[in-house]
Amino acid sequence: MNDSYAKLLERIIQIGRLQAVDALLEWDQDTYMPPKGIDARAEMCAQMAVMKHDLQAADAMGDLIASTAESGDPVRDTNIREARRNHARASRVPVDLVENISRVSSLARSAWATARKDDNFAAFAPHLTELLKLKRSQAEAIGFEGEAYDALMDEFEPGAVTADIVPLFRDLREQLVPLVSAIGEVSDRIDDSVLRRHYPANVQEQLCKRLGAAICFDFDAGRLDRTVHPFCMSMGPRDVRVTTRYDERFFSTAIFGMMHEVGHGLYEQGLDPAHQFTPMGTATSLGMHESQSRLWENMVGRSKPFWQFQYAGVQEMFPDALGNVPLETFWKAINKVSPSLIRVEADEVTYNLHIIMRFELERALISGALSVEDLPSAWAAKSKEFLGVTPPDDASGCLQDIHWSLGGFGYFPTYTLGNLYAAQLFEKANTDLDNLEAQFARGEIQPLREWLREHIHQHGMRFRAGELCERVTGKALSPAPFMRYLNGKYKPLYDLD
Ligand code: ZN
Repeated sequence: MNDSYAKLLERIIQIGRLQAVDALLEWDQDTYMPPKGIDARAEMCAQMAVMKHDLQAADAMGDLIASTAESGDPVRDTNIREARRNHARASRVPVDLVENISRVSSLARSAWATARKDDNFAAFAPHLTELLKLKRSQAEAIGFEGEAYDALMDEFEPGAVTADIVPLFRDLREQLVPLVSAIGEVSDRIDDSVLRRHYPANVQEQLCKRLGAAICFDFDAGRLDRTVHPFCMSMGPRDVRVTTRYDERFFSTAIFGMMHEVGHGLYEQGLDPAHQFTPMGTATSLGMHESQSRLWENMVGRSKPFWQFQYAGVQEMFPDALGNVPLETFWKAINKVSPSLIRVEADEVTYNLHIIMRFELERALISGALSVEDLPSAWAAKSKEFLGVTPPDDASGCLQDIHWSLGGFGYFPTYTLGNLYAAQLFEKANTDLDNLEAQFARGEIQPLREWLREHIHQHGMRFRAGELCERVTGKALSPAPFMRYLNGKYKPLYDLD
């Protein structure tokens, strides 16, 4: 290790520690902070953001990067590559633009909340227009080869470009739309009313802890707490905080919310502690992160074998609600599909159509092909085309998601990339591990977690998500494994064909 690399690594670790402090502040804000703490907390978080940005963008950082050469060692080279990327992204954007985006998006966030509550798109529109202008400037400052949208998406999914995603999503959409409409015609074949009986929150919480441990979440290196919008925050592989929320009148909310966040948490716990606070100890992208959450939530958590092992225990915990409900009825209920207006409530068949329409719309907003004032009608048209449903108002249409009000353009595609990665990885794991379903039915989950650790988690940011997928599965990302998974599960479930 030469001297300049040692100095560079020290700075990288300082930034990583600040990020962990920031994560802890945010976790606390969304779990235990008393409401009156919000103003001081906002100032604390803003201070952290400035400190991180200053370290990232500093000339001294640029000098260190310039004087440190790659050596062929994967750890060192990954850390240098990511430091260079972060420095470029931070230093190319003028400070006044960074501050402007932060100020405008914090106003936009509260304007959005009010506009959604009042179903008043016109009140949000000027904020969105202003944000789009600033985000275009940010993209120009960062630079891009294809289109401006790529520079924004790169923040969440390093290396992903629209030129690759457009054909991938088109292919997926063309296969999903007929499946969704075929299920839509027979949607009453599954009745999920058993999930809407009474499920006491404290018992649900016990079940969440039990199932979290059953899927190998390490509670000595993590916690489960309550929140409004579930999330996972990590201070490193030995301190991972997951959250969920409880609806006493709907079984799925807490349990599958927990399994989703624990899926994220298992990725964080699987990172190598030796590389904590550095890119080699950091997840490679949001898409790959989402692949882990969706894999555990859906491919494990909504599979029949998983419940063959767990269900009797769940019936004992909820004797009034589930005592007389057969496993088959329960399993079908947790897999009911219904095309609906709201993304966060969507099932795994329709979910990606919500994402693809947002991807198309936000790309058009950034390029200027779609004007803000035409957004509500464009949203309604796509919703009808993709999902067969038309929102009765903007609150359940283009105002439903928080992302755009935060300036998070380019975030949505990571959800669908995650679903596709999940299916492709799961299919490979199933081959390598010889019949995962039989293992789940015996309550054996550990082999799958070890497989994910070995092939995905421990590599940190060494490989870009697409490259990692190709190395592990032998193939570039494609919708085929996901469609095989959906067709294999849902055609029998709904007696199609
Ligand atoms: Zn997630």
